Amino acid sequence: MVTASKTPARAGDPHVASGVLECPVPILERSEITIGHGGGGRLTEELLDKIFRPAFSNPALDCRHDGALLRTGGERLAFTTDSHVVSPLFFPGGDIGKVAVFGTVNDLAMCGARPLWLSAAFILEEGVSIDVLRRVVASMKSAAETAGVTIVTGDTKVVERGKGDGLYVTTAGVGLVDEGVSIGPARIEAGDVVILSGDIGRHGMAVMAVREGMAFEGAIESDCAPLVEPVAALLAEYLEVHCMRDLTRGGLATALIELAETRGLEIAVDERSIPVTEEVRGACEILGLDPLYVANEGRFICFVPEPSALAALAVLARSAPGGPPAIIGRVRDSSSGEVMLRRQVGAERILSRLSGEQLPRIC
Ligand code: MG
Repeated sequence: MVTASKTPARAGDPHVASGVLECPVPILERSEITIGHGGGGRLTEELLDKIFRPAFSNPALDCRHDGALLRTGGERLAFTTDSHVVSPLFFPGGDIGKVAVFGTVNDLAMCGARPLWLSAAFILEEGVSIDVLRRVVASMKSAAETAGVTIVTGDTKVVERGKGDGLYVTTAGVGLVDEGVSIGPARIEAGDVVILSGDIGRHGMAVMAVREGMAFEGAIESDCAPLVEPVAALLAEYLEVHCMRDLTRGGLATALIELAETRGLEIAVDERSIPVTEEVRGACEILGLDPLYVANEGRFICFVPEPSALAALAVLARSAPGGPPAIIGRVRDSSSGEVMLRRQVGAERILSRLSGEQLPRIC
């Protein structure tokens, strides 16, 4: 949080304008935006901490959840937004439209909400084929039907040739949260069990295969899927769920680190319990990538108290895409705010944020 300078104001002081004391401008690691600022890693976090959060700080935003939880009248709403710049636009298992709809739906689901309404805004580059736009829109229609949401408003803008990359899609979503449902980072407790809903790394490797023309192209499909059903199934069983987070850019590792830092507790995970298919593991080895940091679009982690863990695992086993789910770790009674990983071999070590993204423009 930015605080006002305590030194007396002087003429010519850069923090003083029109005699009013202003906040000092936070120092950033870079003086201009790099592709790494979009990766969800350390550079993205720096933008959030030093530009966006100080400017917009409010109780809903400061919860650092997947969406904002808002009360209006007698209703509790979840509200979220996402921009999508994935390249290429089409890849095995999905496309930019499917990712846009499911990505927004999943952020609402992670708040414990029933997703209801979406907006869709398109930035189109002059020259992009109408057929491409038709295919993306048809995919969004189908994805919205699958997820049980309606696209109720939208916008279209066009930029000159060379000033876009085909098309970008920005979506926002609104859902309803039932009374009594309280899910978010603040509820994570020491002793909570961490459950992963399925295997990781497919989305990132599917996109990478097409982009780079790799030999394993087509062998790996994106995991892009809605998470509405497994979340509804967990809530229908009245299982106590403390927090959920979908794994997107930055992968499993970044999601765990964000939550450990936000809650200020230590999370310990065991790599041997994390499901990765042979195909994804092999592709990651070829490219020198760590599957823990590779993007997903249809997987999530949930934090549940120990007594609910086996029941939650059973619910996810029958409802979550990409299963079977697995218990991958626990929250420790330590305020380190770190994630400790036990690797296949060797001692436990701290998992750290990557600077940017292993694979830029993945969603
Ligand atoms: Mg999310």
